[in-house]
Amino acid sequence: MNTMQHPATSQQDLSLDEFWMPFTANRQFKAKPRLLESAEGMFYTDVEGRQVLDATAGLWCCNAGHGRKEISEAVARQIAKLDFAPTFQMGHPLPFQLAERLVEIAPKGLNRVFFTNSGSESVDTALKIALAYQRARGEGTRTRLIGRELGYHGVGFGGISVGGMVNNRKAFGVQLPGVDHLPHTLDLERNAFTRGLPKQGAELADQLEKLVALHGAENIAAVIVEPMSGSAGVILPPQGYLKRLREITAKHGILLIFDEVITGYGRLGEPFAAQRWEVTPDIITTAKGLTNGAIPMGAVFVSEQIQDAFMHGPQGLIELFHGYTYSGHPVAAAAALATLDIYQRDGLLTRARELEVYWQEALHSLQGLAHVIDIRNTGLVGAVHLASREGAPGARGYEVFEACYWDGVMVRVTGDIIAMSPPLIVEKPHIDRIVEVLGNVIRRTA
Ligand code: PLP
Repeated sequence: MNTMQHPATSQQDLSLDEFWMPFTANRQFKAKPRLLESAEGMFYTDVEGRQVLDATAGLWCCNAGHGRKEISEAVARQIAKLDFAPTFQMGHPLPFQLAERLVEIAPKGLNRVFFTNSGSESVDTALKIALAYQRARGEGTRTRLIGRELGYHGVGFGGISVGGMVNNRKAFGVQLPGVDHLPHTLDLERNAFTRGLPKQGAELADQLEKLVALHGAENIAAVIVEPMSGSAGVILPPQGYLKRLREITAKHGILLIFDEVITGYGRLGEPFAAQRWEVTPDIITTAKGLTNGAIPMGAVFVSEQIQDAFMHGPQGLIELFHGYTYSGHPVAAAAALATLDIYQRDGLLTRARELEVYWQEALHSLQGLAHVIDIRNTGLVGAVHLASREGAPGARGYEVFEACYWDGVMVRVTGDIIAMSPPLIVEKPHIDRIVEVLGNVIRRTA
């Protein structure tokens, strides 16, 4: 055996105590762990050699599927050539090249890119840029941030403050002051089992006018929303909703931030949701699919006009006192460039459009099964919403998720919602298999 490589790990060899797992029921997991060891294409292989079909692109990030040699080779080449170089008052070519490439696929006008290492950092960066921009243009009273109920914007203090998933907030007490929330757009009564975007609910965007009336436009810096909420269980924007938000924010001088950490890089059949739904925000946050999940990296897109507001004062002035040691990391940037090559060469940024109807009809074939109270889809994203068991919210969803895994399909669970977002290389037989396994599991779950 090559001693440079780690041997296949048997579960018995592992001590599971020391790693405090994120967003995991540690005791439950460690009693019956699900350990993945390798991955290729659409499949993981677990430590027992079981094949698991990936219906979630890892964690919404491996859009080009697993084991892409072009990415691992680019990473290996880069780490040998330039392992690290600072980007504070120094530079190296890769983040410049990457920013140029990213601007080519971004919505028109969003042509400046700030690099981070994760979605959470992208969100904090976007919020800070929004606040500093308002101040730079002489609107320093605009300090209030508006998020949305059920929104997920990562786990930094900024992100949990504007986010609206209660469990991510309530154990921590402290949040940013001066934050308010729009109502969420999940409406099972009016919109259950809609194919694609719900027809009802655009008027929910008008709640922003109420918040403006309450707080005063002159005190509001930005509104941040996921164009489609992923983590809370695939909550879709009603038709016309995002356009309405854009109109209201523009009217009041409020920046609109789209958090596209999930929707970015082809998930909805266009590079970004902004293009799919023809609404251009002022700032877009991304991460995940940027490097196909292979190396941590995030990117925040802003308009030139926003950046220009900072470009005053003496030339030697640092315009934005913000950044991360690893902003524009050479190895991450190499991974991102190789990823973009694959996305563009293989047409993956628009492939979700081609498969969308097949995916939609396959998912909606589960309508009518016991406990299924809604099915939602757009692009290559879908959710099957199960009724909660009396007095045990989340129990049914977790059982379905776990059974799917042992039956060879990895889905996501949020409460009683099963969410799916397969790699964009998915083929129809994979879709059939995902739906078959999920359907069988739901049928036998009490
Ligand atoms: N924003 C959105 C919309 C997300 O879905 C996520 C992660 O799922 C994040 C931010 C946080 O990203 P990360 O976990 O990379 O910090």
